[in-house]
Amino acid sequence: MFINERTKPHELLFYEALAVRTSLTKKEERDLSNIRKGFAGEKLYDEIFDETGHGNIIIYRDVFLNIDNSITQFDSLIVSDKGIIANEIKNFTGNCTVRSGNWMLNNFPITKDAFSQLNRSVGKLMDMRNLAQSDFNVSGKIIFPSDTFTFNTDDQTNWNKIILRSGLRDYFYQFNQAGISSGNKAQFISRIISSCIVDNPYFNLEADKIRLKFGLYCGQCGSFNLNRKRFHLSCNKCGCTECNETHLLRAMSDYKFLFYNQPMSRNSLLEFIDNEIPVHTVSRFLNKHCYQHKKGNISHYTYKYFDFDDAVKKSDVYLRYKDKILVLG
Ligand SMILES: [Zn+2]
Repeated sequence: MFINERTKPHELLFYEALAVRTSLTKKEERDLSNIRKGFAGEKLYDEIFDETGHGNIIIYRDVFLNIDNSITQFDSLIVSDKGIIANEIKNFTGNCTVRSGNWMLNNFPITKDAFSQLNRSVGKLMDMRNLAQSDFNVSGKIIFPSDTFTFNTDDQTNWNKIILRSGLRDYFYQFNQAGISSGNKAQFISRIISSCIVDNPYFNLEADKIRLKFGLYCGQCGSFNLNRKRFHLSCNKCGCTECNETHLLRAMSDYKFLFYNQPMSRNSLLEFIDNEIPVHTVSRFLNKHCYQHKKGNISHYTYKYFDFDDAVKKSDVYLRYKDKILVLG
């Protein structure tokens, strides 16, 4: 079973929020495209795992673990009574060749050696095990989930370290076999992993306000050309209608990732949405969807949810219903 949601990476949420409000530089476009591709690979991995079933095991997705004061990110950790298997997911497409330890992807050299990365990750998990004075197995595989990826190597031992798309179902099916279970030992390992989980400490992107277009935009087509009504805004371009609350939840989420380490105040949010929703409505929804921190006369707010998708899932079910009705109306 999946123990946690796989949420979009912080960097992806940052670039998506940025792309709506400014033109990205070539480098930003490249970064966004790479992160998007990586995330799509992870979602594909999850989908195939869902299809083959994972009831006998515990799976952690996209976690940062603080082990012996150094923090490592793991795409997927598979826990059973036998131990931990780390899966590094690489959504590469095209032809990959590894000769004498050098990686070439579509005839371009890759500087980040995936095997070294995997070794480091597995080594960290061994450190974690040793610090807990336990004795479970730790191993790892690199997973290439794309069906348009081919792999060639002059070192036959490399094949033991990777799983291609053609072998992915069989690889997952082994976790369904008799003898694989998540009993006391797996629970014990799971508690060790959970105790090491920390927030992503490496995210340090921040938007330059001068570049940004302020205001609200259509959730369907991204247009800022909206027609304001009392309780909702409708898009003059595509006709989509969303209520004030939906717009504010999206704006707060964008704000969170564009200015990750900066406090959000009512005034800074009003500036961000170009005062398109009246101040009393903004106040009401800030109180409903954020935690308030008071310092003297100034209040700061932190979003209660991870991102907009999470907010829509968790906040009252009435919310999307209202949007739908408005679209139909
Ligand atoms: Zn629209």
